Amino acid sequence: MNVYRLAVRHAQLMLFALLTTFLFVITIDRMLGHSTWAFAVAIIVLVVANARMRHFNCPQCGKNLFFRGLLVVPWPNRTCTKCGLELDKPSE
Ligand SMILES: [Zn+2]
Repeated sequence: MNVYRLAVRHAQLMLFALLTTFLFVITIDRMLGHSTWAFAVAIIVLVVANARMRHFNCPQCGKNLFFRGLLVVPWPNRTCTKCGLELDKPSE
């Protein structure tokens, strides 16, 4: 499996984590009233789950697939913006 496929899988996992933590915060809010702790727990879970994002780098130049200049976007690049390598081709 190439780095692009792994990065897409990570993006899908993060979408799932986002929805799960959103439902968690809503549930705690409805059951116990407004809680900043539930929100804090959700933020920590998302930051920890997203920590492996830094491993999805171009195998040729090392640029991260989720970066567009200085911005981080939730979907990986198919083509490296630094060296032009096609990242969605099967790895040899
Ligand atoms: Zn590259």
